[in-house]
Amino acid sequence: MNLQERDKAVIWHPFTPFKFAPDTIPIVSGKGIYLTDESGNRYLDAISSWWVTLHGHAHPYIAEMIYKQALSLEQVIFAGFTHRPAIELAERLLPLLPGAFSKIFYSDNGSTSTEVAVKMALQYWWNKEKSATGATTAKRKKILAFNNSYHGDTFGAMSVSDRSVFTLAFHDKLFEVVFIDTPTHENLSSLLAVIAEEGPTIAAFIYEPLLQGAGGMKLYASGPMNALLAEVKKAGILCIADEVMTGFGRTGNLFASSALALPPDIICLSKGLTGGTMALGVTAVTAAVVEAFQSADKLQTFFHGHSFTANPIACAAALASLDLLQEPSCMESIDFITSKNRDYLSRLSVNNALPIKNPRQLGTILAFEIDCGNDEYLNDISVSLTRKALAAGIYLRPLGNTVYIMPPYCITGDELNMIYRLLDELVLETATPPAK
Ligand code: PMP
Repeated sequence: MNLQERDKAVIWHPFTPFKFAPDTIPIVSGKGIYLTDESGNRYLDAISSWWVTLHGHAHPYIAEMIYKQALSLEQVIFAGFTHRPAIELAERLLPLLPGAFSKIFYSDNGSTSTEVAVKMALQYWWNKEKSATGATTAKRKKILAFNNSYHGDTFGAMSVSDRSVFTLAFHDKLFEVVFIDTPTHENLSSLLAVIAEEGPTIAAFIYEPLLQGAGGMKLYASGPMNALLAEVKKAGILCIADEVMTGFGRTGNLFASSALALPPDIICLSKGLTGGTMALGVTAVTAAVVEAFQSADKLQTFFHGHSFTANPIACAAALASLDLLQEPSCMESIDFITSKNRDYLSRLSVNNALPIKNPRQLGTILAFEIDCGNDEYLNDISVSLTRKALAAGIYLRPLGNTVYIMPPYCITGDELNMIYRLLDELVLETATPPAK
C-alpha cells in the first residue's frame, strides 16, 4: 500500500469530512516556501500551512537549534522545575509585546493559549471577590466576544467563539457569552450601549485584533475599535487579545495590537511563535493580573497546566525563530510582501468586471470573496479551487468562497507574482462557466 492508502486505513484528519473529501497528499519534505509530495510534485505553500510557517519549511537554523536542544534537555516537568530556554524566551518576548506585560504562562497551542486566558480572567475576578468578601462566586462572570470570532476548538475556546458550523453539535454545552458585532462608525453607539448595560457583569473581552481569521479573513477598522476598547477598559473589563494568527508580523506590525491605541491585559500567541515548527502556546499577562493570584490562600492558585508545558525543544525553536524575525532582513521581507500585496489589490479593486467581493489586505495577508452567491465556509468552491491551485503547483485552502494568501516571509517577488497570476486565473475561470 502507498502512503495515501495506509493513511486512509488509520488516520482521522482535522476539519475533514470522511465522505467526499479529496484524497490526502503525502508530503515527504519541505524546503523554504515549497512542499514536496511522494511523487515528487512541488507545491508553493501560499498559506504557511495553516498560518504557522514564518521563515519557510525545514529552516536549517531552527532545525539546528532544535537538534542541539534535544541533545541536552528534551522535556522536564514544569512545576517545581524550570529551564533556560523557557526563561530566555519569556525574557525576550515580554519587552517585544504590545503593552506592559509581566509574566508568560506556557501551554501547547492556540486553543490552550485562549483557554488559559479565559480561565485566568474568570479566576482573576473570583480571586478578588474571595479576598474581599470570602465569597466563592464572582460578580463578573460573563465574557464579551465578537460575532464571527474564532478562538479555538476546546470547550472554553469554542464557547467564546461565534456559534457556527464548527460549534453546532455542542451548542447546549457552551457557556453563555455576550456577542457583539465588530465595531464600525455606524454601529459604535449600539455597542457602547451594550457595554454600559452589561459592563459590571463582564469579566473579560476577547478579540482577534483588526482581523478575524477563521471567520473569513474579515478586517475591521482601528478607529471604532479604539473607541470600543476605551469604553471596555473604563468599565473595568479585562482585555484579551488573541494574536494566535496575527502575531509575529503577519499584519505588517510585529503584533496587530500595536496598531491599536490601547494595549490588552492578556495576549495569546501560538502558530508563528516557533516559526511554525513546534507546537507551543503563550498567554502573557500584565502585573495587575498576576497580582490577583498572589494570595496566601492556596485556593487562589491557577490550577492549570499541561504535561508538555514549556517544552524545552519548542522553546528553543521559538528562540531560533525570534533570532530570524529580529534580523532587519525579515522585517524588510514583511514590508516587501505588504507592498506587493497592496499593488495587486489596487489592480483587483479597479477591475469592476471581476466576480469578486471585498478585496482587502492587511500586511502580508490578502483576501477576497468569489462572488458566487453563497458566502459560507461549507461552500464547495473551496475544494475545487484548492484542486485547481494544486494542479498549478500552489497550495491554497480557501475558507469557503473566501480566497486568501498568507505566505511565509521567505517568498520572492517572482513567487508572489506566480500566486497573483493563479488568483487571476481562478477568478476568471469562475467568471466563465466551462463550455457544455
Ligand atoms: N485563535 C485564533 C485567532 C486562531 O486563528 C486559531 C487557529 N486557527 C486558534 C486560536 C487556535 O489555535 P490552534 O489551532 O493552535 O489550537
